[in-house]
Amino acid sequence: MIIIKNSEQLALMKKAGKITAEALLVARDCIRPGVSTKFIDRKMQTFIEKCGAEPSFLGYGGFPGCACISVNSTVIHGIPSDRVILREGDIVKVDVGARFRGYNGDSARTFPVGKVSDEALKLISVTEKSFEEAMRFARAGYRVGDIGAAVENFVISNGFSVVRDYVGHGVGAELHEEPEIPNFGRAGHGARLYAGMTVAIEPMVNVGQPGVKVLGDGWSVVTADGGLSAHYENSVAITDSDPIMLTE
Ligand code: MG
Ligand code: MG
Repeated sequence: MIIIKNSEQLALMKKAGKITAEALLVARDCIRPGVSTKFIDRKMQTFIEKCGAEPSFLGYGGFPGCACISVNSTVIHGIPSDRVILREGDIVKVDVGARFRGYNGDSARTFPVGKVSDEALKLISVTEKSFEEAMRFARAGYRVGDIGAAVENFVISNGFSVVRDYVGHGVGAELHEEPEIPNFGRAGHGARLYAGMTVAIEPMVNVGQPGVKVLGDGWSVVTADGGLSAHYENSVAITDSDPIMLTE
């Protein structure tokens, strides 16, 4: 079931989204060579709780962190760890949600650690721009397939591939609501978008092949070919005109 939010619910989504966005700024400010992903996670959790919110991911399906922190070939769902230390040249994806009075934000960014390769910089840039491409179709009247086709066409025209096994989604009182929003698809197909829907649009882009696999920890999703991957996500409210960015 697709849930349309009323103005009071949208106000709470904006608040949750703002805390989520600010938690990503906290992460950005900690990222440097020598820092563990658990250190970043703790800083974010402290911030979210100080805002009177709760980390949406902590305990979700049993996830053991506040944020998913995924380095290099790990696409998503990396578990924060004292043993994972960031090094110069890494790229790190931080994906986090904050729940405020029952409503969730969900957002992700990919950050460079120190100086990174030109290819890594291009990957980060193309991933973000593929999200911007999707925003042209994130308004009432378009369909989920319009968003997916926009992301996929932009990514492929830049020589990269999109992950097909994990997708964007509705977001609200539940972290994951209907509809699913793949980063691929056929324009003009799929669920229709209506004003009042709130959705998390989240391109996951690989330098190499689109295939992924889950590691033995049961969470970390890595590229099957070991290539770099980037992720960019915002929660967005659909309107009859431009979408409202909830997590920027
Ligand atoms: Mg997310
Ligand atoms: Mg999401």
